Amino acid sequence: MKIVKHLLEGDGITQMVCKKNTAPLRSHSAIVIHYTAGGSGQQTALFLCRPEIKQSCNILIDRDASIYQLNNFVTTSWHAGKSKWKDLTNLNYHSIGIELANFGKLHKVGDHYNTWFNKRVHPREVFTYIDPWTGNEQYYHKYTPAQLNRTLEVVKLLKKKYGIKWVLGHSDISAKLDPGPGFPMQDFQHINN
Ligand SMILES: [Zn+2]
Repeated sequence: MKIVKHLLEGDGITQMVCKKNTAPLRSHSAIVIHYTAGGSGQQTALFLCRPEIKQSCNILIDRDASIYQLNNFVTTSWHAGKSKWKDLTNLNYHSIGIELANFGKLHKVGDHYNTWFNKRVHPREVFTYIDPWTGNEQYYHKYTPAQLNRTLEVVKLLKKKYGIKWVLGHSDISAKLDPGPGFPMQDFQHINN
């Protein structure tokens, strides 16, 4: 996999048409990681390309590691919303947004784990997190190893190409939950270029 003309090139990469985003990035300060809170990566990518949807990302990485690129790496996308990190505000202008296909936070109903839209998730795919303050269990959809490996590979490429300083979660810059405790952020924060 490589970056050519600010686009990813390689196996399993689909370039999408997302005409609504045109503003150039003002800096490549950060990469912001998200979960989609949805199912099929392809369906979500198509949804995010729709002109009337005020959300998008630069790339979306599916559970099988395929990648959908909505915007090139020098164009602003709409993933961060109202956000702040150190002396930066509106991180959309200063970061590359990566969405990972993942249902996000789950809730337990009897013996079952359900998404926010009440789709049942197999217990094998559930990440259990114990809140250190309350001792309560919280449930999140697990990321897949293929997806995480691919994300690491992309983040390494981007850091090298654009000299990106910070790898952040949406929850670091805004009052959001994603990418959640199931995302191994520590593996991403110490990447040497
Ligand atoms: Zn997010």
